[in-house]
Amino acid sequence: MTIVAPPTAAPAQPAPPDAVEARVRALGRHIAAGQAKAGRTRTRVLEDRGMELLARDPALRAALFRLVDVAPATSGRRDLAAHLASLLGEAQAADAPAGGFLRRASVTARSAATGRASGPAVGAVAGLAVHRMATRFIVGEDPADAVPTLAGLWESGAAATVDLLGEATVTTAEADRYARRCDEALRTLARAAQTWPARPTLDVVPRVNLSVKVTALTAKVKAEAPEIGIADASHRLRGLLRTAKAVGAHLHVDMESMASRDLITQLVIDLLGEPEFRTGLSAGIVLQAYLRDADEQLDQLLDGIQQPFTVRLVKGAYWEHETVEARQHGWDSPVYLNKVESDRSFERLTKRLLDHRPHVKVAIASHNVRSIAHALALAPDRDLELQVLRGLGDDLQVALTDMGLRVRTYCPVGDLVAGMSYLVRRLLENTSNDSFLLSRSRGTDLDQLLAKP
Ligand SMILES: Cc1cc2nc3c(=O)[nH]c(=O)nc-3n(C[C@H](O)[C@H](O)[C@H](O)COP(=O)(O)OP(=O)(O)OC[C@H]3O[C@@H](n4cnc5c(N)ncnc54)[C@H](O)[C@@H]3O)c2cc1C
Repeated sequence: MTIVAPPTAAPAQPAPPDAVEARVRALGRHIAAGQAKAGRTRTRVLEDRGMELLARDPALRAALFRLVDVAPATSGRRDLAAHLASLLGEAQAADAPAGGFLRRASVTARSAATGRASGPAVGAVAGLAVHRMATRFIVGEDPADAVPTLAGLWESGAAATVDLLGEATVTTAEADRYARRCDEALRTLARAAQTWPARPTLDVVPRVNLSVKVTALTAKVKAEAPEIGIADASHRLRGLLRTAKAVGAHLHVDMESMASRDLITQLVIDLLGEPEFRTGLSAGIVLQAYLRDADEQLDQLLDGIQQPFTVRLVKGAYWEHETVEARQHGWDSPVYLNKVESDRSFERLTKRLLDHRPHVKVAIASHNVRSIAHALALAPDRDLELQVLRGLGDDLQVALTDMGLRVRTYCPVGDLVAGMSYLVRRLLENTSNDSFLLSRSRGTDLDQLLAKP
């Protein structure tokens, strides 16, 4: 790994705004150059072409949204491929931008489902293609299966956080099962990570990091009665915090839609306030900058949690869901309606979080080079973590590790059906018109993308 010093000069006093902007641009160009150097394989170029088609074709987007709905009910690769074929078939329209692509995809998916439409070989190839696409985003079917990839990441200078994919939790038995899987994952990963070589940049925090979803730990999430969900999820999350503390791992609580935000925030504050977790535990929560009241949530966390804890700052993955939900109920939208407002909120919260170190350990999770460069410009001491999603942020991961920065890659683990749903969600999220990744792949001028929001 080549360590390249990023172009920053650490000022003793807060830099004037113009100087910060100059540093953001210099850092942004440096990161972008590192991404270009990380290279793009031919497969990757084709996949990116698929994403571009997806961005331009509402019929294809609608088909994939529906696939996410039916995926949990499918019984395996063939069944999933059959559903994909029928949805793509419905979405076919000769004049749609992705018409040709849809026709080919539909035939291929049907072949995968039947194994015979264009010969068995095509079915096998299509099955493999689905598998390949999903494995760009997921690192294994279960934690043990994921260990070689996680060890490889560590070797290359990046840590990971593991997310166990699964079906929606609707019963107590499912919540128990998810908690058991998380517990086993913590133990399996902690055993494996003991043998990994020393990495001074990464070893300042626990090697093992598991991201968990509270809505998978309880079937009783109700926005109007959060105390029921808190009571039900508490004992399962407490058990996981105990295991994390015992094996020396970090436990991170992901943030989901607005319906569970207040419940998750209160649950984390309550549990981290319990005497057994006041010391010796590494844990954290997520702050979503697209929420209009994100500053208030941060105030609540800063007031409520006494020991050092990690905050992962994101923009938020449920923008479409929140806006549709608010419109349907005639509510004011809880999220900003202009992308630039979310970007500004992200930068304001970045500064607030950095100003609260060391009480807060800061993790900036974004694929937007401007957002990352801005955080780095405000933290010349580099005492922060940068997080990317496996499959979407691979070149960014390489560019940032080459700069000697602490990088963590979010690595989903699960079977193909769960992987497909995850994959589709990420594709839809990152092919919306305001997405930084899409703007970059369309060749928007870098200086324009690095401009102050
Ligand atoms: C490591 C990692 C972990 C993550 N964990 C979580 C998590 O726990 N919970 C969660 O919710 N998300 C999570 N995310 C996803 C994250 O919230 C973003 O959806 C995703 O990273 C895209 O944002 P960006 O900064 O990379 O890209 P950008 O392209 O700069 O931003 C896209 C984001 O801007 C916002 N946006 C888009 N259109 C508009 C609009 N019209 N008006 C206002 N805002 C808009 C949305 O939040 C959208 O996702 C995670 C991301 C990463 C990298």
